[in-house]
Amino acid sequence: MIEVTGLYKRYGTHLAVNDVSFSVEKGEIVGFLGPNGAGKSTTMNIITGYLSLTRGKVVIDGFDILENPEEAKKRIGYLPEIPPVYVDMTVREYLNFVYDLKKVRFPKKAHINEIMRLVRIEEVSERLIKHLSKGYRQRVGFAQALVGNPDILILDEPTVGLDPKQIIEIRELIEKLGKNHTIILSSHILSEIQAVCKRIIVINNGKIVADDTPERLSEKLSEDLSLLATVVCDGENMKNALAEVDGVKEVAFEESEEDSAYDFVITPEGDADIRREIFRCIAENGGEMLSFTDNKMTLEQIFLKLTENAQPDEQELDGEEYGEAIEETEEEGEE
Ligand code: ADP
Ligand code: MG
Repeated sequence: MIEVTGLYKRYGTHLAVNDVSFSVEKGEIVGFLGPNGAGKSTTMNIITGYLSLTRGKVVIDGFDILENPEEAKKRIGYLPEIPPVYVDMTVREYLNFVYDLKKVRFPKKAHINEIMRLVRIEEVSERLIKHLSKGYRQRVGFAQALVGNPDILILDEPTVGLDPKQIIEIRELIEKLGKNHTIILSSHILSEIQAVCKRIIVINNGKIVADDTPERLSEKLSEDLSLLATVVCDGENMKNALAEVDGVKEVAFEESEEDSAYDFVITPEGDADIRREIFRCIAENGGEMLSFTDNKMTLEQIFLKLTENAQPDEQELDGEEYGEAIEETEEEGEE
């Protein structure tokens, strides 16, 4: 449905998008996550046909964004980072204007009313946009994206600048729209993405550094499959008992912050799931388990880890050498 292949965007000497490829299937809700300046808006502006690309290919539903821009753009509703909202129009006037601009064919009044109902702005339809709260304005932004009933929605940081209540409302709206749209949603805040997306593409310094489900990202990046247990027991005896359990490679322990308890770090052989055996062993040896968790990283930790290598200097260098680099990229097989 959306196919992005080998996308590059250079601003002067600065390489803002550096060999980005991904595809999105019909019905997916994909999160585009990355710190400020990562290249999210640039990529989205290119996918939606609002910005030229330096090199690469974008195909929407079989239509190339460069060769067939009208057909491609017709299929996309776009909520840019700063929506082009005309503040001196009423909500209805503005949506009528967008309708004409997009050359939509559905019965006008019914179509606009239907959209206003969906995003819940009917009660402000006759108000000037400049008199609306930020939350309502953002809904108007959603409404203009929905004019023409596009299958795909591209939403650039749709919750930025909203208060927590408005954020929840917008999140619910995205979930609702996700039932019959394909959505790409960007954010620099992990929790925003995590709440609504089953797939996360992490971008940093113009490059994709991860593309997976939140769960698999967490598993993949966790070097550590060990289990953490806090147990009230005799530390040394329990350690010996645990070390005897099938599938256990290593056991370490230290006094816990909890009274008369010890913290155990139990490392399995390979990726064996030894949780049940460990639990049983501790119970059989009279231990009282206070807590038992795996050592997997939280998504927040993963995000930080993936994006910690922001190296602006190298980035500039990439930009300067871009002229040659671009010819070689395929052979180089960069990560
Ligand atoms: P994000 O949306 O992830 O915050 P952007 O795509 O807006 O990132 O920007 C990516 C990089 O490109 C940043 O380093 C930004 O400064 C630079 N950039 C964005 N737009 C322009 C522009 N029009 N001219 C020059 N540099 C730009
Ligand atoms: Mg942006």
